[in-house]
Amino acid sequence: MNQKPHLLLLGGTTEAYTLAKTLADISGVRLTTSLAGRTQNPRRPAGDLRLGGFGGVRGLRTYLAAEAVTAVIDATHPFARTMGDRAAQACTAEGIALLRLERPAWSPGADDQWHMVETWPQALTLVQGLGLQRLFLAIGRTELAAFAGQPTMSWLIRAVDDPGDDPAFASGFPQADVVLGRGPFTTDDDLALLAAHHIQGVICKNSGGDAGRSKLIAARTLGLPVVMLQRPLRPLIQTVNDSAAAVSWCQRHLCAGL
Ligand code: NAP
Repeated sequence: MNQKPHLLLLGGTTEAYTLAKTLADISGVRLTTSLAGRTQNPRRPAGDLRLGGFGGVRGLRTYLAAEAVTAVIDATHPFARTMGDRAAQACTAEGIALLRLERPAWSPGADDQWHMVETWPQALTLVQGLGLQRLFLAIGRTELAAFAGQPTMSWLIRAVDDPGDDPAFASGFPQADVVLGRGPFTTDDDLALLAAHHIQGVICKNSGGDAGRSKLIAARTLGLPVVMLQRPLRPLIQTVNDSAAAVSWCQRHLCAGL
């Protein structure tokens, strides 16, 4: 019996949803998107969906073999380094083609005041050195711990899910205002948000893409410094920056024999 080629798409990004929509329309290919299951109500992608970790490299190898996966696209977030490393190891071991889809990083313009850091503790030291006390933390909810317990600082935190659900949050961030939201955001909204909360600087990671760019434009417009976490290094694998290139790769790897 001839099985359909099976593409595993490691998702959790806007790009992965867009790509899934196109790939699900290619007849004769089975598409499965995998999500880590971190957000409470994730959007449902086109095609099949599986949720949760695989259980390390060994678990991923087992999944690839059991589900007869033909090719993998790692379209996880630029900061999801562990998943990227594990996908590279598992695909090499199983002899399965792997493509990385990664949006280009942001870069500063002439009017931007960006400070690049490699870790969150460096970011904290930097803003304290600049004498900033009221910061917009746009880093999601899971990495806030590095900024907890700073009695002289106050925060505006934006996240998809409420960090207040974690009991450690209230004690670590007594001076925090929380806004919940999933991008894309508009520049007008972010200008209003930063001004209304008297923000002195923005702390974020270099996610790239359009959905989170508005805070950077707002910071530039208001003359605020931005502390930008640099992207982690990733395994050297074939990488494309847009969905169209990923679709062409799939057609070469999956559709040749259809
Ligand atoms: P990570 O540190 O690279 O991954 C940690 C573990 O989570 C992985 O080892 C894997 O568990 C599991 N995992 C991650 N992505 C998965 C996926 N797509 N399908 C199945 N399991 C997955 O990842 P993270 O930074 O925690 O991010 C988790 C997810 O959120 C990613 O899929 C990413 O695209 C998305 N996301 C991350 C960020 C960010 O800033 N980090 C921002 C937006 C969205 P096992 O080892 O058990 O397989």
